[in-house]
Amino acid sequence: MERECSHCGFQFERAPGYFLGSTYINYGITAGCTTATYVVLHFGFRVSNQVLLPGLLAFCGIFPVVFFRYARSLWLSLDCYFDRTGAEEAWGRGQSEPHSSFETETRD
Ligand SMILES: [Zn+2]
Repeated sequence: MERECSHCGFQFERAPGYFLGSTYINYGITAGCTTATYVVLHFGFRVSNQVLLPGLLAFCGIFPVVFFRYARSLWLSLDCYFDRTGAEEAWGRGQSEPHSSFETETRD
C-alpha cells in the first residue's frame, strides 16, 4: 500500500495501527453477507446445509483477503469524514493543495 497520496502528499497511515478499525468493517461485511446468504438460501429456497457449507466457508476465506484494501479505504474515508483531527497535519508535505470533495480530476 502507498504511504501517501502521490498527488497531494496526504499521509494515509496517520498512526501505528491506524487501520486496525478496517478489520471491523471487513469482518462485519463478511459476516453480514454470509449470514444473509445462508438465511435466504436455507430458509427461503430450502438449500441443504451440506450444499451451502463449502461455498460459504470458501467465501469466508477468500472475500476478506480480496476486500481488505477496500475496507481500509472505507475506514480512511469514514475517519476523514467524521474526524478531521490529524488530517490537516497530514497535508502540507505534498506538492499541491489537498483534494476537495467537490474537486474533479479534469483540471490541470
Ligand atoms: Zn491526494
